[in-house]
Amino acid sequence: MLSGEDLDRLRAIVGPERLSTGESELELHSKDESYHPPSRPEVVIWPRSAEEISAILKLANSRGIPVTPWAGGTSLEGNPIPIRGGIVLDMRLMDRLLWVKPQDLQARVEAGLDFVRLNKRLERYGLFFPPDPGAVATIGGMVANDAKGVRAMKYGSTGDHVLELEVVLPTGEIVEVGSRAWRSSSGYDLKRLFIGSEGTLGVITAITLRLQGLPAEFLAAVASFAALEEAAEAVAELVGAGLIPAALEFMDEETVTLINKFNGLALPESPTLFLEFQGSGRAALEDDLQLMREVCADALRLEAGLGREERDRLWEARHLIHDTIRKAFPGIAGIVVDVAVPLSCYPEIVEYAKRALKEHGLKGYLFGHAGLGGLHVEILYHPGEREEQARAEAANAAIVHRALELEGTATGEHGVGLGKRRFMEKEHGLSLELMRKIKALLDPNGIMNPGKIF
Ligand SMILES: Cc1cc2nc3c(=O)[nH]c(=O)nc-3n(C[C@H](O)[C@H](O)[C@H](O)COP(=O)(O)OP(=O)(O)OC[C@H]3O[C@@H](n4cnc5c(N)ncnc54)[C@H](O)[C@@H]3O)c2cc1C
Repeated sequence: MLSGEDLDRLRAIVGPERLSTGESELELHSKDESYHPPSRPEVVIWPRSAEEISAILKLANSRGIPVTPWAGGTSLEGNPIPIRGGIVLDMRLMDRLLWVKPQDLQARVEAGLDFVRLNKRLERYGLFFPPDPGAVATIGGMVANDAKGVRAMKYGSTGDHVLELEVVLPTGEIVEVGSRAWRSSSGYDLKRLFIGSEGTLGVITAITLRLQGLPAEFLAAVASFAALEEAAEAVAELVGAGLIPAALEFMDEETVTLINKFNGLALPESPTLFLEFQGSGRAALEDDLQLMREVCADALRLEAGLGREERDRLWEARHLIHDTIRKAFPGIAGIVVDVAVPLSCYPEIVEYAKRALKEHGLKGYLFGHAGLGGLHVEILYHPGEREEQARAEAANAAIVHRALELEGTATGEHGVGLGKRRFMEKEHGLSLELMRKIKALLDPNGIMNPGKIF
């Protein structure tokens, strides 16, 4: 519990207008976009600098007060929910684009800038930051969860775009890790330690990003298959053929039906792959398309070479799956399963997930970043119907266990948060103990986002 004196000292650091104990702010910062129950902090603070965060963490560390960074609040596993109360640091006022060095394809940002605004600002340089989780997330939140999204196949994850990080450690020290050089073999790669650490090791305040040139040409294709396993098998074949589309996404029949209905599309209602190719010229993309046609020769229908407008409509629909489901089933709740498996096991995990839904008597939608072996299942249940929710959680657990048996991972991109903690032992074995030791070394008093990951 924070004392009145603690609150006075915090107010002295940031001023009264950037600290709130008001009901509505506590409520707003008690949840993310997941099914996990809310939990309120005792105070919300909007810092403006690493120095302010340093002073806050020094106080919190000396008093054993929990501190949870909170950014876009778009996590899907309870990652920023302050389950032990304490202080929430809302990072969104630290949203400056600090510099762009177009000749180096680099930009430095404060952690609270969201990637949509960053990309708008980068357009004039002909550059962009490719990771796109589909929700309006901040760069700091994306680094902390190592977010990926639809274009990770060609461009890689958020972590793959991080060159340097400024981090405030729980003790209040401000450290800079990494280098502006694109390559470095200089000692332990400490920046990788903070990527995906979900706010449990410190607060990321600034990030130097590696950028990409905006592609000049796009080609989109949609391949519809008669059966689920044919679509899933085509994924491995496409990748095996050496194709590197920017995106290779899977949707099951029910998901296609739903997006048709709510987004004015007329796709064949069968298991479907969406592909996007990006490049500097049309000729290379046409070659990719030709290879794709050969691999997908057995598809029910293959629409290729779609123009930019059609492509935008398709990807808009893909991004809106979560919202479309909410529109189709007002008041419904959902668990978004997030697993990834080796590519050869993709057909098996898709089939297994379908069966798990049936066996548990549940409705759910399957889609995912198939090109990287990633599968999501949005499992629906009615809020307040405890027995149905328990079945949804059991189906989620079954799919995660199966992914681990297939030598995959419990989370491809959403992070561990609260929802995946119970699978960590099975996934990591003894190396989980090493992670605990690293946490204890950096955060001996356990103040940073306590109760997450472990
Ligand atoms: C509709 C929808 C679709 C999504 N699709 C995808 C997808 O395709 N791919 C994907 O990867 N994710 C996806 N997500 C999940 C989510 O958008 C990402 O995990 C995103 O990275 C969260 O960023 P955020 O800014 O909202 O962070 P938050 O949710 O606020 O926080 C995320 C975590 O990072 C910590 N944190 C935040 N800022 C900092 C900081 N500055 N320093 C240290 N720790 C910090 C928090 O404590 C928390 O643990 C989706 C979410 C939604 C709602």
